[in-house]
Parts: sequence; structure tokens; C-alpha cells
Amino acid sequence: MDDLETFRRQAHAWLQANCPPEMRQPVQDDDDICWGGRKFRFRSQAQRQWLERMAERGWTVPEWPREYGGGGLTREQAKVLREEMQRLGCRTPLQSFGISMLGPALLKYGTQAQKQQHLPPIARGEIRWCQGYSEPNAGSDLAALQTRAEDRGDHFVVNGQKIWTSYADKADWIFCLLRTDFAAQKHTGISFLLFDMETPGVTTRPIVLISGKSPFCETFFDNVVVPRDQLVGEIHGGWEIAKYLLTHERDMISAIGSRGFRQPLGQHAARIIGTDEAGRLDDPMLRAQIARFEIDEAAFGFAGERVRDLARQGDGIAAFSSVLKYYGAELNKRRHELLMSAGGSDALEWESERSRQGATARAWLRTKANSIEGGTSEIQLNIVAKRILGLPGA
Ligand SMILES: Cc1cc2nc3c(=O)[nH]c(=O)nc-3n(C[C@H](O)[C@H](O)[C@H](O)COP(=O)(O)OP(=O)(O)OC[C@H]3O[C@@H](n4cnc5c(N)ncnc54)[C@H](O)[C@@H]3O)c2cc1C
Repeated sequence: MDDLETFRRQAHAWLQANCPPEMRQPVQDDDDICWGGRKFRFRSQAQRQWLERMAERGWTVPEWPREYGGGGLTREQAKVLREEMQRLGCRTPLQSFGISMLGPALLKYGTQAQKQQHLPPIARGEIRWCQGYSEPNAGSDLAALQTRAEDRGDHFVVNGQKIWTSYADKADWIFCLLRTDFAAQKHTGISFLLFDMETPGVTTRPIVLISGKSPFCETFFDNVVVPRDQLVGEIHGGWEIAKYLLTHERDMISAIGSRGFRQPLGQHAARIIGTDEAGRLDDPMLRAQIARFEIDEAAFGFAGERVRDLARQGDGIAAFSSVLKYYGAELNKRRHELLMSAGGSDALEWESERSRQGATARAWLRTKANSIEGGTSEIQLNIVAKRILGLPGA
């Protein structure tokens, strides 16, 4: 305990001294998020500095081993670090699918050489990854995927199409599920490969959404040559890795339910609508809705902490990531409905400068995808029914 308190004091002092003031402001929109990668353009010098300082200390991935660019912190220390960052309002220095999804899978299933090649550049924000799972006929039924990797001994030749590949046009590398055995049962003929998006034969085509933004792409592979040493795990053994990675993806997405570094909704609404003589939000109906929301948001935060504590003790239930993903998605949708209500007709502005090009409305529309990405809500409920509640025939 004393050690943890000492660590808390040291972490607090270091964050105070090293987090630039601009990086202690709430994130305004997607462009404020640092994704890293070869194509990433920093929004400010402060954003670059914050990433570099945190990466240097290993705190972009606090719990990863030091040899792979991590901070080597225990889970308890990492929790303290998160708390201190929250207390000071420090932004996450780097967000990436490499950190949230591929990293944990490589730490568990990668060879020593794969870990050494891929983990440090992820920790430093040098390489950005995308996820090649879904295909036009394989989404909820992911194991039906047909994009093939032909085994040619020292390399594979990949052909086919992925879809909904988030940020494929901005990513440097892809982690991909591919069929390597067409005769086997569908779950047993899949392999997990990594390759550079600049490999000849890889092309991407952005898909534009209702928000006018394009967070994802169609991704095509035409005789893409992938060296054998980029096969993770056993040949045809990719499904186990895919499922493990999905639990991390769901944990990542569930974080949208937490307030994180955002301003409390009640304060935000009061700034727009104003307050009555008692200092309360001057709209009783909205006030009640926001109060209900903030209670649920706090309860969700506690539930998440409890799940992580259980996992720390070795009592975690992998399927619980589905509970958090389902509820986190619902909360985020509610949050943005309430932000729209608070904003009134101004929130519907689309292309004006004062609305930051319709940031509120576009973010609200973006949340419509929360209950689809990372596995739909119906699929999460099926998993909860089957693996947690043990219901028959679900
Ligand atoms: C914003 C966004 C980002 C994404 N990013 C990525 C990415 O980076 N990489 C990637 O590989 N994929 C990505 N996806 C794809 C996502 O994983 C799939 O859209 C999702 O798994 C659903 O698959 P589908 O779209 O094929 O829908 P379908 O599987 O065709 O489902 C259609 C409908 O049927 C329902 N349904 C299907 N099966 C069942 C069942 N057994 N029981 C009950 N209901 C069922 C679904 O819930 C849904 O409502 C992204 C999707 C979105 C929206």
C-alpha cells in the first residue's frame, strides 16, 4: 500500500510537470485524438510532445513489459496512473487498435520475433493498425469468411475482399483473418496474418456514412504476398486468436460508455441552457433525464472497475466484455441524444463555423454505429444468454 501511495505521488508529480496544459483540455472532436502512424499529422506541438514524453516513459502502454516499450507497471499501479491522469484531466496520449486489440493478442500468441518487431512501434505510436475481419458475407457469422491465403511454403498469397475496415486508408499495417483451409470446418480453417498496407496488391476504398465522414473502407487484396514469419499462432489456428482479440475489442468499445475525459453532461447542458435561481439546469424535463443518465454512467464506471478487479484476481469472465460493450454502446447513444436535446435547433447546424462543421450532429449520427461495430448488440445479448446466463438454445 505504501509503495502504491509513493507511486501515486511520483506519478502525479511527473504528470503535473510533463503534461502540456493544452493536453489537459477535454477532447472536442475526433481530430483531437492522437492515433499515431506514418500518415498521422499532429494537431499541435503539445500533442506531439505529450505522446513522445509518455512513450519515452512506457506509459502509452503502462502494463506492457519494458522490453516491448511498455511501462512494466503492475495492474494496481496502472490503475493509480489512470486515476491520476483523470484527476489532472490529462488526455490519453495515444489511441490505437495496436494498443487495444493487436498488442494483447501478440503478447499472448506472438513469437518473440513478432513481439520485438511489432510491439515497440505500437507503443511509440509509429505504426497504425487496422482490423481485417469482416467481409461482405461474414459479419456476425465471422467464421464464414472467404478471403483466402494460399500457403506457398515461405510465404502466403492473399486474395479477396474485406469490408468496414476502420481507418484502412490511414493505417500502415493490417491484422487479418484469412481462410487457409477450404476443406476444413469453417472455424478450423482460418489463420491470422499481419501485413503492411503498402504491400503491392492492397487497395482501399473509403465508404462515406450518413454523418458525411468516412471512418471505414472496403479493402481489396489482389495476389498480396505475405512472408510466413507474419503468421501469428498455428496455421489454421487463427480462430482462437480472433476470439481473444474480440474480447479486447469489446472492452475498448465499451469505454465509450464512460465519461472519460469529457465534461459532465449536466455541466455541459447548463452552459448552453442556463440555470434557475437554485443553480439547477433550467429545464426540469431534461434535468431529470440527465440525472438518470449520470447515475447510470457512474454505475457503469463502477461495474467496469469491478470486472477489471475480478480479472486481476483471476476470476474474470471473458464474456463479460459483451455486457460492457452492449451497455456502453447504449449509454453513448443516450449521451448523444441528450447532447442534441440540450443543443436545441443549434445542434442541427451542419456546415457553419460556429458549429465546428456540425460536430454535435455528426457525432450523434456516428453513435448509431455503436451497437453494430465490434459485434452487434443482438450478438452480445446472445453471448450473454449463452455464456453467462447459461440459457438453453440461445
Ligand atoms: C463503425 C463500424 C466500424 C467497423 N469497423 C470494423 C473493422 O475495423 N474491421 C472489421 O473487420 N469490421 C468492422 N466493422 C464491421 C462489424 O464488425 C460488423 O458490421 C458487425 O459484426 C455486423 O456484421 P454485418 O454488418 O455483416 O451484419 P449482419 O451480421 O449481416 O447482421 C445484420 C443484422 O442481423 C442481426 N443478426 C445477425 N445474426 C444474428 C443472430 N445470430 N442472432 C440475432 N441477430 C442476428 C444483427 O444483429 C444485425 O442486426 C465495423 C462496423 C461499423 C459499423
